[in-house]
Amino acid sequence: MDPRRREFLAASSLGLLGLAAEAAAARAAQADPIIDIHQHLNYSGRPDVVLLAHQRAMGATLTILLPAGRAATTASTHQGVANGLQAQALGSEACAEFARAHAEYLAGANERPDATDATEEIERYLKGGAVVIAEQKFGVECDAPEMQRLYALAATHRVPVLMHWQFRMYNHGFERFDRMLERYPTVNFIGHAQTWWGHIDRNHQDQTVMYPRGPVTPGGLTDRYLSDYPNMYGDLSAGSGLNALTRDEAFTRDFLQRHQGKLLYGSDCSDHDGGGPKCQGTQTIAAIRRLAPTKVIERRLLYENAKALFRL
Ligand SMILES: [Zn+2]
Ligand SMILES: [Zn+2]
Repeated sequence: MDPRRREFLAASSLGLLGLAAEAAAARAAQADPIIDIHQHLNYSGRPDVVLLAHQRAMGATLTILLPAGRAATTASTHQGVANGLQAQALGSEACAEFARAHAEYLAGANERPDATDATEEIERYLKGGAVVIAEQKFGVECDAPEMQRLYALAATHRVPVLMHWQFRMYNHGFERFDRMLERYPTVNFIGHAQTWWGHIDRNHQDQTVMYPRGPVTPGGLTDRYLSDYPNMYGDLSAGSGLNALTRDEAFTRDFLQRHQGKLLYGSDCSDHDGGGPKCQGTQTIAAIRRLAPTKVIERRLLYENAKALFRL
């Protein structure tokens, strides 16, 4: 068999793109770079070679890998449920190593906040070049002393903190978070996940609803945090981000206009395709392109805001 044909078949059988399609994606990416601020290594067991192809297929030119903390059986991990970010994601060491080996990747640093050596562990990776403390996805109060130690560490190292807000599961006390925004004015916080996005709606009354549908009434907590605090940012990733963008498109156009300097593209998808119906990250890029009021705003959301926030 012709070796190119064999290579193509091998790539296809791995679920990778064909060579021509990949070259086309690379050309498009060069013209319109995209920073993906939210991906994971070994996400639901996804092999590294598939992650690399997935990110290229989506058009991500730079990807930030968010590590899990070290595994532990504690209340903060819901007796181990939250280990690996509840998705088999690998930790700080693996992400740092991957980022060293791949120029288009950066890594975060992470640990469960109640580990006795959490700040030392995270600081070790910040000193090694980690660009964010994330993904903070643990069953703790958002203003607990152990969380505040991480915020102080973020201030010292001038890196953002990315938090997964999920009612009764991860980062409790969203309605009190304004006090942390005030107490740590030099720390940039990035909000993510169901409870963060549910609260774009002023009428988000039933907190147990994770993916609310239908029209949005402006003025929700999330909308207010973004408007009132220069150190509050939003991560558009995951099903929750895509749901928030698409549930009421008229609202979304104004929301993107209003917070055009505060919202950042992330994928957070674990599929092997990097396109098509299973790839939510690609759908989020399409939604941003469709709903951003101007090309300038689109570029801010897909690239410029992350470049500035992470000082790249
Ligand atoms: Zn998350
Ligand atoms: Zn995807």
